Amino acid sequence: MNKSADDARTGAVRFADFLHRDTGSVAPGEAYAPAIVPTSIYGLASVPSGEYQYARWANPGWTALERALGMLENAQALIFPSGAAAVASLLASQLRPGERVLLQADGYMGTRTAAQKFLAPMRVHVDTCATAQIAAHPLTGYRLILLESPSNPGLDLIDIRACAQRAHAAGATLVIDNTLMTPLAQRPLELGADAVVYSDTKVINGHSDAVFGHVASRDEALMAGVNEWRRVMGAIPGPFETWMVQRGLETLELRLTRMHANALALATALAQRGTLQVIYPGLPAHPGHALAKTQMNGFGALIGLVFSDAPTAERFLAQCRYLRSTTSFGGLHSSAERRARWGDAVPEGFIRLSAGCEPTQDLCAEVLRAVDAVHSERN
Ligand code: PLP
Repeated sequence: MNKSADDARTGAVRFADFLHRDTGSVAPGEAYAPAIVPTSIYGLASVPSGEYQYARWANPGWTALERALGMLENAQALIFPSGAAAVASLLASQLRPGERVLLQADGYMGTRTAAQKFLAPMRVHVDTCATAQIAAHPLTGYRLILLESPSNPGLDLIDIRACAQRAHAAGATLVIDNTLMTPLAQRPLELGADAVVYSDTKVINGHSDAVFGHVASRDEALMAGVNEWRRVMGAIPGPFETWMVQRGLETLELRLTRMHANALALATALAQRGTLQVIYPGLPAHPGHALAKTQMNGFGALIGLVFSDAPTAERFLAQCRYLRSTTSFGGLHSSAERRARWGDAVPEGFIRLSAGCEPTQDLCAEVLRAVDAVHSERN
């Protein structure tokens, strides 16, 4: 990632400023790291006032993490106990009976399931559209549009700026699930989106040891709705997980830089091998490559690998010492899985590979060895 040039282009906060955000305010003898405050109650005056009154409404650890996430986004942030809860907070707080929502047919399936299972019976009309068709899909009549770019797992791109303009002309709110990219690598709010939502379980925490999420926006009314939903429905994160994500966030830039470099090196090397189809926005052959260069800062950590069939893909996974077969992504250990096993609309031999933080040469050598091994077994 060419960070300094892109800071200026995208409006992203300088990560060095972010890391030193509290240096000036740490008094001699005061703890440098934020505290974990495991309380359910706070002392109250006879007429309650102030930020901390009951722990379903606020916690000092939340305040610290929301300030940090908000600084990265240049917006208000609200944290949740999972990415799914963050998505739910947006859908449930913004949509009313009779309104329409547009989701991706080939995006993260949990968002579609949430809308179809819980909103459709409450008379919210749920439409879906394939990522590649969004640009041609009429947006008139939608109250909310929730999309991700690149799409997960197909890695198709949406022109976020163009989509935001069309959504606003139609009177719709555009939310971007920016989980794959993080605020360092893609700036949907600067591109015109009204809100962003994240599964912090992935890259933001990055250590595969906490489930978490957040919403960020500069729209005060939207955030008031999201906050009220969290407060009333009680989808709140615990103080320990909050602290873990705060700690993971401090190394985001470091991890993301290595993950993107690893993904690009792997995708390039595998494409050059020519023995399987490689899907990665950083490859010139990807249909969204030109857009990726202007819309994204780096090309992401996920790569699609299309093996000829499921058994070949599974043999590759079993062969490769540095790929853990898990169903999440964005962790500092590389991982991979065959997505058709969950019913994603991808070929049986499609593997979503999440590049981690291993030394680049070692990772590339091992993945190439495993690819060559399964192909030579077959020949
Ligand atoms: N958004 C995307 C793009 C995801 O991939 C996921 C989970 O895989 C979610 C949201 C939901 O996040 P979580 O698993 O943290 O609830």
